[in-house]
Amino acid sequence: MYNKKFYINGTWTQPSAIKYLDVINPANEEVITQICLGNEKDLNDAVSSAKNAFNSFSVTSREERLEIFEQIMEVYKKRMNDLSKAITSEMGAPVNLANAAQAPAGLGHLKKAYNALKDYEFEYEMNTTLIRKEPVGVCGLITPWNWPINQIACKVAPALAAGCTMILKPSEVAPLSAIIFTEILDEAGVPAGVYNMIHGDGPTVGEAMSKHPDIDMMSFTGSTRAGISVAKSSADTVKRVTQELGGKSANILLEDADFEKSVTKGVLHCMNNSGQSCNAPTRMLVPNSKMKDVIEIAKSALEKVKLGDPSSENTTLGPVVSKVQYDKIRKLIDAGINEGATLIAGGSGVPDGHNNGYFIAPTIFANVNNDMTIAKEEIFGPVLSILGYKDEDDAIKIANETIYGLSGYVSSQNLEKANKVASKLRTGNVHINNAPGDQSAPFGGYKMSGNGREWGEFGLEDFLEIKAVMGAIPRAS
Ligand code: NAD
Repeated sequence: MYNKKFYINGTWTQPSAIKYLDVINPANEEVITQICLGNEKDLNDAVSSAKNAFNSFSVTSREERLEIFEQIMEVYKKRMNDLSKAITSEMGAPVNLANAAQAPAGLGHLKKAYNALKDYEFEYEMNTTLIRKEPVGVCGLITPWNWPINQIACKVAPALAAGCTMILKPSEVAPLSAIIFTEILDEAGVPAGVYNMIHGDGPTVGEAMSKHPDIDMMSFTGSTRAGISVAKSSADTVKRVTQELGGKSANILLEDADFEKSVTKGVLHCMNNSGQSCNAPTRMLVPNSKMKDVIEIAKSALEKVKLGDPSSENTTLGPVVSKVQYDKIRKLIDAGINEGATLIAGGSGVPDGHNNGYFIAPTIFANVNNDMTIAKEEIFGPVLSILGYKDEDDAIKIANETIYGLSGYVSSQNLEKANKVASKLRTGNVHINNAPGDQSAPFGGYKMSGNGREWGEFGLEDFLEIKAVMGAIPRAS
């Protein structure tokens, strides 16, 4: 059912060698299908097709590209249900989450890039100099499995809007939605060579992309470990590298927060997508004096979390993505217990009735301190740590005491106070009183959470070079 070929120069192309990889459904450990993993030869073909296409696509008009977007969005709407089903089966997102958020997120990024393209000032005058923003060139896009279509769309859409050509290497763990996405671009009539897609693993295709002399920019989303590797391998060709990496976001509940509401929302947000979101609020920071009450509220919030088969409408918490993640998360839960954190719910045992599939019970630790492994490492599973703080300064210090800097969360009934705390967080995003994400706003991290900003106009700018043309404007007489 799923196409096993690669998409190169506008054609589904046979991989140069046959090396299969099973795609596993994490809810039942069954093999859904297989994909072929590519190699350097496949990559070279994709790069030369993108390089050729750049000559004509980079000079298309704004109107021509807007028209392509309109086609893509039309076809995307028709295939939304297919995308949603693929996401549930490849990475275990509950069907309601896949339908309401995972699949529509891709359309959202297409719309935002379309709007940005409509109004963007690609040229402006500065005295007698003309400033031009031009497409950066051939782009290598590498994406993870956790929000598979969201991540793909928030790279492909701005790259297209900018006039770049590209090679996408989606996650080999969740490649099915990427195949459908490619079918959408094909049906929409994206010109041959502009968008190419090959499957592959990080060390083979990912590494070859980073080193490739004809790739001008790498846009990477994934773990900090792999992001560092991409930057190092890209250094010799001095290509631009943007990175969207890991996180360990603090959720600060100030003294005057509405605790019933903020603790409940904080728990549910952390468990959403099985905790597999880079910006998940995984460290809840509460005043020491409130720890007891918070524990009770957190426990009752879990009554709303229904662990089970992701294809059921009643399920709010599906499995984690893979055996590798399953083992890693259980080990980290054990580390939390061994290092003395108070386990108030869940744990590393197999949840009742879930011997098959990668299911982990929603797990909450209280009385965590910031030196514990569970407070330092990105767990990427349904695990929340609750930490106590002395006063506001202590809360800010704990929040910032991490190698990461993706997101922060602040709850308070006093907006001025919340804004003051937000200004002190060393993170690319802050959500006050659990404000939802904004696809027009820049998304990205400080510190080891990355470089560059995705989404909307800011995402478009990541794919543009800046040229100054001196003497282009006649001197005023
Ligand atoms: P991962 O780093 O293992 O894999 C991500 C992608 O990188 C995959 O396509 C993989 O094949 C590729 N890759 C792996 N090693 C590589 C290498 N050496 N060179 C080039 N490519 C390589 O990450 P994952 O497990 O798929 O995703 C989870 C991670 O992604 C988490 O750390 C999460 O925080 C992060 N993430 C960050 C954001 C963000 O916007 N900041 C968004 C989603 C996920």
